[in-house]
Amino acid sequence: MQVPVWPLLTPEDRVWDVQSLFLELTIVFIPIFPVKSKVEDIVQEVYDAYKTNHHSSQYVLQREKHFHYLKRGLRQLTEAYECLDASRPWLCYWILHSLELLDEPIPESVASDVCQFLRRCQSPQGGFGGGPGQHPHLAPTYAAVNALCIIGTEEAFGVIDRKKLLEYLYSLKQPDGSFLMHVGGEVDVRSAYCAASVASLTNILTPALFAGTAEWIARCQNWEGGIGGVPGMEAHGGYTFCGVAALVILKQEHLLNLRSLLHWVTGRQMRFEGGFQGRCNKLVDGCYSFWQAGLLPLLHRALHARGDPALSMAHWMFDQLALQEYILLCCQCPAGGLLDKPGKSRDFYHTCYCLSGLAIAQHFGSGDLHNEVVLGIPENCLQATHPVYNIAPEKVARAVMHFLQYPVPSLDPASAAK
Ligand SMILES: [Zn+2]
Repeated sequence: MQVPVWPLLTPEDRVWDVQSLFLELTIVFIPIFPVKSKVEDIVQEVYDAYKTNHHSSQYVLQREKHFHYLKRGLRQLTEAYECLDASRPWLCYWILHSLELLDEPIPESVASDVCQFLRRCQSPQGGFGGGPGQHPHLAPTYAAVNALCIIGTEEAFGVIDRKKLLEYLYSLKQPDGSFLMHVGGEVDVRSAYCAASVASLTNILTPALFAGTAEWIARCQNWEGGIGGVPGMEAHGGYTFCGVAALVILKQEHLLNLRSLLHWVTGRQMRFEGGFQGRCNKLVDGCYSFWQAGLLPLLHRALHARGDPALSMAHWMFDQLALQEYILLCCQCPAGGLLDKPGKSRDFYHTCYCLSGLAIAQHFGSGDLHNEVVLGIPENCLQATHPVYNIAPEKVARAVMHFLQYPVPSLDPASAAK
């Protein structure tokens, strides 16, 4: 069988270490302020160049360019991507989600190839590894389940072995409510989110599996107001998103101090650049357009449930136009694909999360309360994304409806007690 070989880096592309991935935990001490002013200078140049050459209505999302970059990536990768060999389900998810945001259909044959490939990544122990034959890990498990739900066909849903997945989640559960990322691996708040996300999408979420998890996540909120990887650690956008989204799934957001969380996240939108930073005193980065801005819909919902009378019914609590301006002017690679900040290379991770953040900034609410706030031409408008799962809302609904047809698998007591 032809295995989809992952694509295709042009020489200027930079490869990301993705398994440590979506959190970009660079614990490197650098002189922050000189670097920050340098970034501001570059961003100023970009904005100045734009203002001299264009009218303000001409912010353009380069849809066709991004589409071709993504489409090529689905079929072929060069050896430059070898270092992402343990993250292949992520590449499926980043590309498929970017395509759904752009409203580009996935051809049936490609969808079927992805299903067959992900089936080969599924471990006999349950869960998915980073590639065929690799040990299972919660991060590629999350990515694989999301990718399969985006495809949303019977074939895709049929790939997931729910009983084995439930057994796998139990094998990672810790007595304090937290989860390991993989057997023998580390604990942090990413794992709680990955576990809650896949369990809720596939109807294997049980109170016993998540006993103590919400309380453990709440302990990760620190004095800054955001959430760190484990209790006592520095607040960080990726961990904060994971913690809050997991609590939304578990219906336990009230365990957090929502006001201090709101204060922390709104302070992460950069006044000058318009994009978000991941932590205090760090640089702006396009991927936090989702990890940070994606928190605002979750917070809005939680505060609304408390009956907060000051909440807007038309806008999120961040500057939606400023974020769109940063993404459209500073994060688009002219050859297609999106990136962290001017001067960096494009990659599929940043393409996915810049577009996801753009979608969050463009769409407020849903149903009767839906309000579009689109900077530039109307064609810039992306499809909406679900702020908890970061796949299309209708794909979440389809997956949930599909798996509700089947009962939660019953495990033998030994598996559940492990
Ligand atoms: Zn980034």
